[in-house]
Parts: sequence; structure tokens; C-alpha cells
Amino acid sequence: MREILGLEGLWPEMDQAIKIEWNLGKRCNFDCSYCTVDTHDDSSPHLSWEVLTQTVERLATGLKGRRLRVGLTGGEPTLHPQFLELVQLMKRRNFDYVGVTTNGSRQKTFYVDLMEHIDSVVFSYHMEYHRRAKVLDSILACNEIVQKINQDAGFERKRLHVHIMMLPQHFPEAEALIAELQKFKVQFALRKIRPSYQRIEPYQKSMVAPFYYMVMPFEKPGVIRTHENGEGSDYSGDGAYYSEEEHQWLKERLTKANFENVITYAQKDSEVISQKENVNNYLANQENQYKDWICWAGIQSLFIGADGRVAVASCKAKILGTIFDGFEMPTEPTKCPRRWCTCAADLNTTKIKSAYWSHLTRASRSWLESSVSERVDDNSTSKDLPC
Ligand code: SF4
Ligand code: SF4
Repeated sequence: MREILGLEGLWPEMDQAIKIEWNLGKRCNFDCSYCTVDTHDDSSPHLSWEVLTQTVERLATGLKGRRLRVGLTGGEPTLHPQFLELVQLMKRRNFDYVGVTTNGSRQKTFYVDLMEHIDSVVFSYHMEYHRRAKVLDSILACNEIVQKINQDAGFERKRLHVHIMMLPQHFPEAEALIAELQKFKVQFALRKIRPSYQRIEPYQKSMVAPFYYMVMPFEKPGVIRTHENGEGSDYSGDGAYYSEEEHQWLKERLTKANFENVITYAQKDSEVISQKENVNNYLANQENQYKDWICWAGIQSLFIGADGRVAVASCKAKILGTIFDGFEMPTEPTKCPRRWCTCAADLNTTKIKSAYWSHLTRASRSWLESSVSERVDDNSTSKDLPC
């Protein structure tokens, strides 16, 4: 078992980039069993064009000199009536990269038009809603466009991939989909589902922490656990969501991504070794716990929530303001308050176990050089020292 001491994105040329995940709102036309009511509904109002343009201007002017890489999410972001205009506006304002994660429910013609303007589309495949033929048709049409554009450009100018949400009891359907995607050379990743937690009120009001009920698909029994104590959700007991066979199936496949995107620095015997790998490995191996680590969320990333609040990352470790009233970017890394770091975008943000390990990553080396006396925290202890 390795002990991870730090990690960072693989590409130094991306060090000047800032990843911005912008949740355009909760409105969605699906109601997946594993999605919380905090994440989606079918009635939330859309953001006004005025707020959208103001936010784009704030990002473009406030982060001048940085490469802005925006991922639009929701709810279902493409339901916004001015979605295409928003994408076009960001490209006109020289955003380096604009991508969207969609549930694939729009017409094929919508996606074909969108591919002309956007840099990346992720189709999330939700098995409770998708009929394979319909969404696959849109995926294959867009993939053909992407392949042609990239071939003509001679580099990867646009990206498309599919996230297959691994719904319990539907693994044979996933295998059939995987076979189709492989046949047409469509990039895909398997997503282990983090089940939804719905608050049940009133329940054991005498308990200090609120209780949540984990919604199980079909007839599986629920699991109750506490969280919301400042450390975020507790996913350690998600075992009951999948059967033993499904766990095994996921374990064998989740660690076999066919590309690397992070460098991990880990202690092995008395040495620190570095290893290139895929960020999903941390999730598959449950190595995604960084409480009290020093994290570059807020410097390498921003998150805009459905309610307009701006945070350092999707974990919302620190709130920086709102898109309505403005927000301040932090100049120092953040001390991680969460028990679990669960989002892939958050996971590949640079982090080190303590200031002692600052020499390991590119961002922490610059930080060490520029602000030795003003670090947020140096929680190195003798147990961190290699001996
Ligand atoms: S499509 Fe996405 S946002 Fe909509 S209900 Fe499903 S998981 Fe939630
Ligand atoms: S949970 Fe947030 S603060 Fe903690 S390591 Fe992940 S991105 Fe950083």
C-alpha cells in the first residue's frame, strides 16, 4: 500500500490555466434515482442573459492572462434557451476552452450544430432514461465530426467522450454500449455512481448531525449515515449500492483507463517515487482523502454553483462570493477541510500532504519560492519525514 504525499496534473503547459466548472442551474428533464434534489429539478428559473454576460465579462477581465477553461454543467445545461449564444460569447472573449456535460437528451441536430462552436462534449449516459439507439445516434454523429476536425487540424482540436453511469443491475446494458463505442472508436469512461442522499425530516432530531437516507435503486434497502459536519459527504459505506459481483466488475475495469493525466508522488520504503496515472485510480482505490492537505483549489480552479455562489472548487471548501455581486480570487492555496475529494476535476488539482512536501510539485515549488513566510499552514510532523 503506498502513501500518497502529493499529486499534480501531468501537463506543465496547463499550469497557467484555470479550470472553471460553471453549473448553469438545476433545471433538468431527467430525474435519475441517484441524483439529489439539490442538484436537479424541473422548475428552477434559467439565469438571465444579463447575468450570463456579466459573469463572462468578470471572468474574462478578472482572470486576464490566464487560460480560461470552462466546463458547463447542470442540471442539464443545454436546456438554457441561450446556451448556444453563451458558448459563442465565451469563444469570442477568447476563452481557451469551452466544454459541456450533457445528458444527451437533445435532438441530434442540436448537438451537430453545437460541435461547430464548442471544444468538448461529454455525453453522460444515464441508463434509467436512455434508449441506446437514440443517444448513440447523436454520439456517433458528433464523434464523426470531431474525428474529421481533428484529422484536418493535425491535433486534438475538439474532444468528445462518454461517461457511462454504472447503474446497478444494468451492467449487461453497459457492456453492450461499451462494445458499440469501441467499434466506432469513441472515448469513454465508466463512472461509479455516488448514490443520492435525500434528507428525511424529521428523523431522530435529538441527533446532532442531520441524517440522510441513501436512495437505492429498485428494491434494495437504504443505508443511513450522518454527514454535513463540515467534512462533506461520507461515501465510505457505499458498498451496499452495488452487488459483490458488480463491485468486482468495477474494480477490474475502473483502474484500467487507457490514458494518464496526473503525476502521483508516493512514499515507498524510504524513497519518494513519482508515477503517471489516471485520476480515476484515486477513486477506485479510495485514495481520495486529503483532509488538512494543502490544495491549489481556487488558484487552479473555480466552481460556480447553481445558486450563483462562487467557490474554490466543486467541493466548496471556500466560498469566494457570487456571480451577482462579484467574487475575489484567493492568492494562497487552501487547507482542505473535507474528508473526501470526490470530483475528478477537483482530484487532479495540485495538492500536497504538508508544506514539508513543497518540493514535489510544480505549483508548490513556486509557492515555496514566492511566499515562504505566509503559508496557510505547515502541518508537517515528524511522521511525515522520510526516515
Ligand atoms: S441527468 Fe444529470 S442532473 Fe439530470 S437528473 Fe440525471 S444526474 Fe441529475
Ligand atoms: S476536497 Fe477540495 S480542498 Fe479538499 S483536496 Fe479536494 S479540491 Fe482540494
